[in-house]
Amino acid sequence: MSDTSARYEPAEERAIRETYAKGEVPKCPRDGATMTARSIGGGSFGLGYSRKREWLICPTCRRSAIFDVKRGTRT
Ligand SMILES: [Zn+2]
Repeated sequence: MSDTSARYEPAEERAIRETYAKGEVPKCPRDGATMTARSIGGGSFGLGYSRKREWLICPTCRRSAIFDVKRGTRT
């Protein structure tokens, strides 16, 4: 499954998310490059309910993964 849109497979996105959730910097599952994390949004719409997203980008292959970050939950 290779098309022109630079997307990860769902399993790859999940691996990236899990790595990030552990407090580690994820590496691209395709080429092993260290990914760049950017925070998106995070504006305060209301008290206690600011939604935050992380955007992880691979500088090498330009694939990216966006996912929501839930704050204040510890497992
Ligand atoms: Zn990559």
